[in-house]
Amino acid sequence: MSTTPKNAVYLSHSTWPQVEEYLKSNKKIIFPVGSTEQHGPSGIIGIDYLSSESIAAEISAQTKTMVAPALPFGMAQHHMHFPGTMSFTPSTYVQVVCELLESLAQHGFEKILLINGHGGNIAPLTTAFSEVLIRRPKLQMKLVNWWHLKEVQDYEKIHFADKNGFHATCGEVSVTRYTHPEAYKNVVFKEEFETVKEYPWPLSPSEFRKTFPDGRMASQPYLSSEDHGHKIFNLACTSIKETLIKL
Ligand SMILES: [Zn+2]
Repeated sequence: MSTTPKNAVYLSHSTWPQVEEYLKSNKKIIFPVGSTEQHGPSGIIGIDYLSSESIAAEISAQTKTMVAPALPFGMAQHHMHFPGTMSFTPSTYVQVVCELLESLAQHGFEKILLINGHGGNIAPLTTAFSEVLIRRPKLQMKLVNWWHLKEVQDYEKIHFADKNGFHATCGEVSVTRYTHPEAYKNVVFKEEFETVKEYPWPLSPSEFRKTFPDGRMASQPYLSSEDHGHKIFNLACTSIKETLIKL
C-alpha cells in the first residue's frame, strides 16, 4: 500500500495555475489533521496524522477532490511527559487552524472537509470553526473524526472488544501497520498490563503519565494487525467519501 496514491489531487503537487483551474469547477478540499504524540510502547509517534493523511489521499484519488497537506501537529499537551510528543497549546492550535482555513477560503474554497485523527483536537477544532464563521458565514466546514465512525467502532467492537482502549488503540495501530508497515519492522508487540479504565479528564502531563505509565489507555495493541488495518482503512474511506460527496 502506498500512502501517496499517484492519482490523488495533491495541493502540494499542484502549481498555482492548476489550483486556479481546479477552483473553476470544484470548491471542495480535504484537509487532514492529526498530532505528533506518543502512542504507547508499540505505536508510532505519527499515528494520528499519518492515518488521517492516508485516508484523505485515498479519498482524493477516488473522488478527484483536492487534498491539502496534513497538519501534523495538534493539541497534545497531556502527552508531553513522553519523549517525542510535539504539541501546540490549545489557543495556538485554534489560531493556526483558523489561519489555515481562512487561507483556503480566501482562494475560493467553499467546502472544507477536515479528517481528524486525534481526540485532543476536537474541542479546539470546533472552536476554530466558530471563530472562522464570524467572518466567513457561508464557509462550509465539516469535521470527521475517523475513529468515531460507526462502521469503524462496530468493527473494533467485534474484533477487539474492550481491549481496543481509548489511546494507542488496536484500531489506530492497525491502520498505520497497514499504511506504514516499514515503520513497525522493529516493534515487538506483546500483551501489556491492564490500565485503569476510569479517569478524570483533562489530565496534566504529569498526571497522565502517572495514570497511564506506558502511554496506553486501556488498549492491547498486540491484537492489531495489517489485515485489520486494511479493513478499518477501507471502512473509514467508504464512509468519509459519502460525507464528502454530500458536502
Ligand atoms: Zn492516536
